[in-house]
Amino acid sequence: MLNVDAALGKLLDSVEPVDGSEVVPVADALDRIAADDIAAPVDLPPFAASAMDGYAVAAAGFAGEPPHVVELIGESLAGHPSSVRVAGTNAVRIFTGATIPEGADAVVIQEDTRVDRGEVALLATPRRGDNVRPRGHDVVRGSPIARKGDRLDAYRLSWLTACGIDHVEVRRRVKVTVFSTGDELMDTGKPLGPGQIYDSNRFALARLMLDQPVDLTDLGCLPDSRDAIRAALEQAAGNADMVLTSGGVSVGDADYVRDIVEEIGRLEFYRIALKPGKPLAVGKIGDADFFGLPGNPISTIVTFLLFVIPALAVRSGGRHVPPLEFHAVLGENIGHSAGRREYQRGIAENADGGLIVRSTGDQSSNRLSTFDGANCLIRVPEERGDLAAGETVSIVLLRDRGRLF
Ligand code: AMP
Ligand code: MG
Repeated sequence: MLNVDAALGKLLDSVEPVDGSEVVPVADALDRIAADDIAAPVDLPPFAASAMDGYAVAAAGFAGEPPHVVELIGESLAGHPSSVRVAGTNAVRIFTGATIPEGADAVVIQEDTRVDRGEVALLATPRRGDNVRPRGHDVVRGSPIARKGDRLDAYRLSWLTACGIDHVEVRRRVKVTVFSTGDELMDTGKPLGPGQIYDSNRFALARLMLDQPVDLTDLGCLPDSRDAIRAALEQAAGNADMVLTSGGVSVGDADYVRDIVEEIGRLEFYRIALKPGKPLAVGKIGDADFFGLPGNPISTIVTFLLFVIPALAVRSGGRHVPPLEFHAVLGENIGHSAGRREYQRGIAENADGGLIVRSTGDQSSNRLSTFDGANCLIRVPEERGDLAAGETVSIVLLRDRGRLF
C-alpha cells in the first residue's frame, strides 16, 4: 500500500496539462485557467485620484502652523474633473475618486478643515502625496495581472475588469467522463427493487465539479458486467481526458474495473494507506487519466477531494496548491488503529483563540450523514493509534462548494 503523499506525488508526476485554449468573455471565465500571462493594458487608476473627500492643494504653498486660509477655485467630482490649475494657496473642492487637478499634489480631508461664512481654512499642514492615489497605484501598465496557469477567481477577474479587459484566453476545459458501476444501483425517480440503492456517487461527483473547468459526460450507471464496463471504458477513454468511475475496484467477485484497466490501459496503483478510500485505482487508458474510485459514497468523495481535484488542477493547466492545514485541539477521543491515514469528517469551532474539533460520529464509509454539519476533515496520522481529547491534530477545511480550502 502506498501512503497518501507518495501516491499523490506519483499521480501528479504522471498528469499532463491539456493542450488548446479559447478566448472567452471575462463574464464566462470564472474558475477557468489563464492560458497565458496577461499584462495590464492601462495604469490603474488611470489618473491621480483623491482617496478622500476634502480639498486638493499644492503642498509647497503651505508652511508654518495651521490654520491656512485657502482660496477656493474649483470643484472636482468623480467623473467630472476640474480644468483649473492649482498653485500657491489655491484649493479645489474634491471628492473620493475624483481627478487630482493639475498643480495639486495633496488632499486635506474635510474633517481637517473649517468652513466659516464661505472662508475655507485648513487645520492641518498638507504634505505632498497626502490622500492621493497616484496614477498606477494599483497596477502599472505592462505589469502582470495574471500569469499562465492562474485560476481565474472572482478577485482576479475583477482586477482584469478594472483594467478594461473584457475577453481572456483560457485553457480549454478538461473533458471528464463519469459512470457508476453496480448491479444494485438505481437512478432516483424510480422505485427501488429488492436489494437496490440509489446511485449517489455520480451526483456527488458532478456537483463537486461544478466549479472545476470541466466538460462533463455522464454515462450513467453500468451493471457489474465485464463487457459493459470494458466497452464504456474504451469509449470514454477515446473521448475524454479523464475518466472517473465508482465502485467495482475492490476484491469482490463482481469487481472488474481494475482488471479491465490493466487489460486496456495501465494501472499506476490501486491500494492506498487511506481510510476511507483504500481501494482507489489510478492509471491511464490511452491519454486519459483514469480514476476508479471506491463505491462507498464517503470513499468516493474523500478520494475525489484528495486525488482527483489535484489531478484536475494539473490537467486543466493550473497548479495544485495543497490545502492549508490548520491545527485544532481534539474535543473528544478518536479511536484509530495504526496503518492507514484517516480523514474523519469533523466540526471545528473557535475556542480560546484557537480551534477545537470533534468528529461527526460513526465514520463508516457508507454514511453520508458523516458530512452533516461537517466543515473540515480531521487528519489522523497513519502511524498513530487512538487519539485523546486535548491532543492537537491537523484539519483541512471544507469550502462551501465542497473543495478543500
Ligand atoms: P463496491 O466498491 O462496488 O464494492 O461498492 C462498495 C459499496 O458502495 C457497496 O455497498 C455499494 O453498494 C456502494 N456503492 C457503490 N456504488 C455506489 C453509488 N454509485 N452510489 C451509492 N453507493 C454505491
Ligand atoms: Mg459494486
